[in-house]
Amino acid sequence: MSCGAELKEQEIDGFPRRVCTQSECDFVLWRNPVPVVAAIVEYQAQIVLAHNKLWPAGIYGLITGYLEQYEHPDQAVLREVEEELGLTASIQSFIGHYASEQKNQLLLAYHVNCDHGEISLNHELDDYKLINKQDLKPWDLGTGLAVRDWLYTQVMNKD
Ligand SMILES: [Zn+2]
Repeated sequence: MSCGAELKEQEIDGFPRRVCTQSECDFVLWRNPVPVVAAIVEYQAQIVLAHNKLWPAGIYGLITGYLEQYEHPDQAVLREVEEELGLTASIQSFIGHYASEQKNQLLLAYHVNCDHGEISLNHELDDYKLINKQDLKPWDLGTGLAVRDWLYTQVMNKD
């Protein structure tokens, strides 16, 4: 807990940290990475990419969301897909974990599938598109690395 005094920068184990200026207080602002779940959603044999209202036009991405307290990432990813797309999905595989130092997040990426139901976007999203697997192109940052790794496994499984 913080005593409320000012913080100053101090190196701890080789990294700059914000620590309390009071000598009797051991508060350190660790800024630990925040876990985020991400889903490659397969819907009727196509991949759903969604556009967040706050993003520039033309940018589409995976379904993502924060892990909540007491929640397992497996539950969190299905909850996010339900909330954002209105789909009841099932997990096909855990793709991997990706550290985004820039965003200070730990990304946990899944492949989920849903063949039934209608897509219904929640308030965070204003558009989506369906892409054939073979037309899905990975991007260089964050969730794009999960897309890259997943596409690789898809190619391997086909042979
Ligand atoms: Zn303090």
